[in-house]
Amino acid sequence: MIQENLEKIRTTIETYAAKAGRRPEEITILGATKSVPPERIKKAARLGIRLFGENRVQEAQKKIPQVRIPGISWHMIGHLQRNKAKQAVQLFDMIESVDSIKLAQELQKRLPEGRQLEILVEVNTSGEPTKYGLPPDEDQILPFMEKILGCCPSLVPRGLMTLGPYPPEEKRSRRSFALLRALRDRLEEEFGLSLPVLSMGMSEDYPWAILEGATLVRIGRALFGPREE
Ligand SMILES: *Cc1c(COP(=O)(O)O)cnc(C)c1O
Repeated sequence: MIQENLEKIRTTIETYAAKAGRRPEEITILGATKSVPPERIKKAARLGIRLFGENRVQEAQKKIPQVRIPGISWHMIGHLQRNKAKQAVQLFDMIESVDSIKLAQELQKRLPEGRQLEILVEVNTSGEPTKYGLPPDEDQILPFMEKILGCCPSLVPRGLMTLGPYPPEEKRSRRSFALLRALRDRLEEEFGLSLPVLSMGMSEDYPWAILEGATLVRIGRALFGPREE
């Protein structure tokens, strides 16, 4: 089942990359594994998925040690509370959900000497009040990035992350994703940084995210099947 799902996803990525004049290799699949048991994650890893994402530190602490496979990486994709920063730093290769300076400072503080940690800044491009992230406004995001660069020399910003609007709908979803890309472009220009990662698109909206420049699509149900919540 995972194999069939993955074949479909890869085909969709090829199709939409082609529509956008992009190469499919520019787009990485992240398996979103909340509530997915280790066996299914290992199956996906055997089929070539190299990157997985968890939403909660507690679940990740149990699961990640059960999926020790060389060459796979883990991203934190859910909201991260400051009091979990220490564990998060130990568990994850990237934090995609940095949305406050206090969190960034805590991550910086918890990093062992000499270690760097890649981060994405989460932006609430849909403006939905239930979602986390900075407002999608350059007057907020430019000063935010400036502060991160100042406070936290061990954090390495790699790009931006967003969740599309719910329910997904082509026009609104694409507007959200295009906004994330525009903000990324603005940051690169302002700070002379390279921010290649745009983490956007999930099971129901990733084709549109690819059209708007996604480099990382976070896929749960379309890969692993429905969640048992
Ligand atoms: C659950 C989740 C996903 C994947 O959602 P699906 O709709 O199952 O593909 C992606 N990103 C985040 C932040 C999530 O919490």
